[in-house]
Amino acid sequence: MADTKPYVLNSREVQRATLEWLGKRGVTTRHIAELVHYLQAPYFPDLTLEECEQHVLAVLGKREVQNAVLTGIQLDILAEEGKLMPPLQDMVKHDEALYGIDEVLALSIVNVYGSIGFTNFGYIDKQKPGILVKLNDKSDGETHTFLDDIVGAIASAAASRMAHRKQEEKENGNGLPSD
Ligand code: MG
Repeated sequence: MADTKPYVLNSREVQRATLEWLGKRGVTTRHIAELVHYLQAPYFPDLTLEECEQHVLAVLGKREVQNAVLTGIQLDILAEEGKLMPPLQDMVKHDEALYGIDEVLALSIVNVYGSIGFTNFGYIDKQKPGILVKLNDKSDGETHTFLDDIVGAIASAAASRMAHRKQEEKENGNGLPSD
């Protein structure tokens, strides 16, 4: 039967699905917080994982970020199941070196918090600390061609958000009310 109900976006459902699908793909907010800590601890020696996780959650609250997470995970799953059309199927499945759309999608996350995020994104993609090792492991039959870049981008955006916040705190004595 055709769905005759008009389309109404349910923001809460999008947010819930984003966290659920990250979890189903083996990524927790704590994993991403560990990446933020890796990026920012050299600058803020007292930095806690809890503080990093707060910034990760704020980034994950953004609609642009949720859209990128859900789109990327869906493409990874379809590739894992062999359901993409050729030749896209092989390119995504094998994380073909000249296929850069995974990075482009992830940049839509990095963009949300400005240019500091770009530097962090490039750096973390080269270093591949923490959960990024597992996501890049091609030997376990899982496909995370999109998710590895998305997770790196969320961490980079959260690190960038933190850097901006800490600067605001330094200048104003407390954080400006911003998102
Ligand atoms: Mg990738």
